[in-house]
Amino acid sequence: MNQLSIIIPMHNEASGLSALFDALLPVLETITKKWEVICVDDGSTDDTLSSLKAYHLQDARIRILSFSRNFGKDVALTAGLEHATGQAVIPMDADLQDPPEIIPQMVERWLAGAKIVNAVRVDRRRDSAFKRFSAGCFYRLMGRIADSPIHHQTGDFRLLDANIVEELKKFPERTRFMKGLFAWVGHTPDIVEYSRTRRDTGISQWSLGKLYRFALDGLFAFSTFPLKIWTYIGLSISFLSLGYASFLVIRTLIDGVDVPGYASIMTSILFMGGVQLISLGVIGEYIARIYKEVKQRPLYIVAERIGFQEKQKTKTEA
Ligand code: UDP
Ligand code: MG
Repeated sequence: MNQLSIIIPMHNEASGLSALFDALLPVLETITKKWEVICVDDGSTDDTLSSLKAYHLQDARIRILSFSRNFGKDVALTAGLEHATGQAVIPMDADLQDPPEIIPQMVERWLAGAKIVNAVRVDRRRDSAFKRFSAGCFYRLMGRIADSPIHHQTGDFRLLDANIVEELKKFPERTRFMKGLFAWVGHTPDIVEYSRTRRDTGISQWSLGKLYRFALDGLFAFSTFPLKIWTYIGLSISFLSLGYASFLVIRTLIDGVDVPGYASIMTSILFMGGVQLISLGVIGEYIARIYKEVKQRPLYIVAERIGFQEKQKTKTEA
């Protein structure tokens, strides 16, 4: 059995592979000879897969799962977790923004008994101001309304004990917001701090649209607050309109009938129309997710599986 599994989702990372393995493999060697690196090629359109195959020929402990298309980082992570055999499992990014140098410290904490060791970013100055601001808002909101608080400065880079991985494998849901799932499992994590560097090679795979959908997934998958808030908004608007109605009755009794009112009627009709559409939209977000769940489609399709002992078929796989 492998002692240590590293899971690396990759989408068009060919340009950074040599730097990655040069930095990562020597670190792993100092910890144990029994390591495996599971590279999940998430539908790359560049040379990622062919380069990976060359690395696999050099060292069979570099294993490859290649998806039939791009399924997203969180699905790639899930596939990696399902194939990992290590007693400790560490997901990390391919762009060296998660420094391999701190892996020995994480392993030390695990050997000392920690079930989860989070790598916590202490310095995000190198991320863009917009990214820091939007991430800050998102995590503050999640902290208030989500089932389980998500640690702001922790990404997917963390060490998970095999028991935790077993627990995570039981999650059948299709919306794979992994940070949220990691937090949901519970256990008090141990912490190793590091400062996050800029991506050296390739480009960030996160477009603004992708980040927005990622945030919505997190929100809707881990909170029902957006569904419930409409009861309160509806109640407040009803009370306000009751108050306004009483005011109109009294004013009519005192001043007599007053016909003008086109502007105020239009405003309230449009306002109410808007409020109702927004609430319908939120309900739609949940229904879309329910629909996705009931279809029970496989989470991902593996086109090639290289370096694994036997073909492992798992629940969520075709
Ligand atoms: N990634 C992936 N599938 C995707 C997008 C990204 O597997 O659809 C991988 C990517 O190759 C990298 C990791 O996820 O290893 C983090 O991506 P990136 O560096 O673009 O994200 P950021 O560091 O900006 O959060
Ligand atoms: Mg990155």
